[in-house]
Amino acid sequence: MGKEDMNYSLLVEMYERIEATTKRLEITDYLVDLFKKTPKKLIDKVVYMTQGKLHPDYMGIELGIAEKLAIKAISLSSGAGEVEVDKALKKIGDIGEAAAKFLGKKTQVTLFHEPLTVSRVYETMDRIALSTGEGAQEAKIKLLASLLSDAEPEEAKYIVRTVTGKLRLGVADMTILDALAVAFCGSKENRPPLERAYNLSSDLGGLAAAVAERGLEGVKKFKITVGKPIRPMLAERLASPQEILEKMGGRCAVEYKYDGERLQIHKEKDKATIFSRRLENITHHYPDACQLVVNHVQASAAIVECEAVAINPDTGEMMPFQELMHRRRKYGIQEAMKLYPVSLFLFDLLYADGEDLTLKPYPERRRVLESLVEEGESIKLAKALVVDNAEALEKFFEEAVAEGCEGILAKAVYPESVYRAGAREWLWIKYKRDYQALLTDTVDLVVVGAFHGRGRRAGTYGALLLAAYNEKEDVFPTVCKIGSGFTDEDLEKLPRMLKDYIIPHKHARVVTQMKADVWFTPSLVLEVLGAEITLSPVHPCGINRIRKGSGLAIRFPRFTGRYREDKSPEDATTEDEIVELYLKRLKKVEA
Ligand code: AMP
Repeated sequence: MGKEDMNYSLLVEMYERIEATTKRLEITDYLVDLFKKTPKKLIDKVVYMTQGKLHPDYMGIELGIAEKLAIKAISLSSGAGEVEVDKALKKIGDIGEAAAKFLGKKTQVTLFHEPLTVSRVYETMDRIALSTGEGAQEAKIKLLASLLSDAEPEEAKYIVRTVTGKLRLGVADMTILDALAVAFCGSKENRPPLERAYNLSSDLGGLAAAVAERGLEGVKKFKITVGKPIRPMLAERLASPQEILEKMGGRCAVEYKYDGERLQIHKEKDKATIFSRRLENITHHYPDACQLVVNHVQASAAIVECEAVAINPDTGEMMPFQELMHRRRKYGIQEAMKLYPVSLFLFDLLYADGEDLTLKPYPERRRVLESLVEEGESIKLAKALVVDNAEALEKFFEEAVAEGCEGILAKAVYPESVYRAGAREWLWIKYKRDYQALLTDTVDLVVVGAFHGRGRRAGTYGALLLAAYNEKEDVFPTVCKIGSGFTDEDLEKLPRMLKDYIIPHKHARVVTQMKADVWFTPSLVLEVLGAEITLSPVHPCGINRIRKGSGLAIRFPRFTGRYREDKSPEDATTEDEIVELYLKRLKKVEA
């Protein structure tokens, strides 16, 4: 064994001590001990292995081989039959202990063998993790058996636990950071810069190597790297505009909170890499998002954060978050891209052309983001506004909800409003008070207007404007725009059915702020199923009944396929009924 290597047994000793202790602080001490003994070249590997890994999570290299394969390897290396190993496993319940048992029997009869080194164990495990395709299973079994043949029983126990993904020592990231601070930077007091470096790189092993090599100075120089995910900043939550403003010092920015998937997109020239909120590499789910960022972010290297929202390709409207699940597939991505296109709403900029922006205050990050992004049909900045009073904040919230968002995110604008990677603090506060009532009954609504279709719906209507009926005033206040649930046949039929009702302007009995492309005399009634009813600043149905200045809207409405030709427009669901539905459902949700 060279000077640069270390016996695996030292690692095993540390594993055993950690398993035996009941005190968190002792875990740190054991780690410090081990890190000090570890050759610098190996420290990254030792850190990964302590967490049962070989690489940082974002690389997506899974170690967990099936127990079935581990049994075969134990059998091969110990000479015991597979059935026997399997039986013992069932009795003991831990594959690691089972391995130790069989290899213990065997080592009594073998003579001398080379002690296992950390490098050898690591490299062999890495080959196990990386072998894929035909013959991979055989290869994995052979590689594992070769390690086990040279292992002491206790070593075998931890090797098998590690490769099957069952090494669960429960050593938290923060404990490792503490141990690194003590071992290489003098004391735990020095953890904050280490923590920041970790939050910027999501790579504990890489950080350990830097700190072991160059101490605190090395850490301070730790830079953002395009291609290594930054741990995302998270939001706190409050329930009223007043509380939010108070926390923010009386003034803050508010942004629409889009209901999609958070993407951290790393652009480098004409290539982009996408990380999920949990830092998985999900580039292959979103080739379209990569292209959008490559084309529209005017920097040769940049890291942006955005929300990807599914868009109805026929109407251009935002769809519920669940629709994005269609993107989570290995094959058929091109098809999914067509059926479930996305729009990106950019909300932060963490890095641009060599400059780390995470330490700049929010207004500056936003300003640079605005200057670098060339907005397009499918890539926009998150809608934002700076407010200093509760009314303005509330109004913006209602607009956001009416446009299909979940609510808003309030963001601090004072000089310390940096991007706090990996932290949930009061710099971002979400506000998504439940002003939504679940809707399970269908409603019958009157068609009062229409919008021209795009894409597949060019030449027909993309969406219709629907209204309820107000008996007292004999008017039709609108409650939603609907684009979902129509078959190709419906789409073809609708212009014909509505042709005779077209008028050049909004009908006098229709109340709305919406601007339709085509207006109709209220006549055709459709049956509609919505997901929920929400407050709305644009639809006047139920105006001022729940909240001053707000009406109600049906969110995510779908045509059920039933034309209610049996109903006259005056037989449609009334405004009172919608208000009642809202109140009734809201109570249920709260209960
Ligand atoms: P939550 O997941 O409820 O804690 O809310 C925070 C999430 O909202 C973020 O992780 C993003 O995925 C999402 N989001 C949507 N719009 C924005 C925005 N404008 N700024 C920040 N986050 C946003």
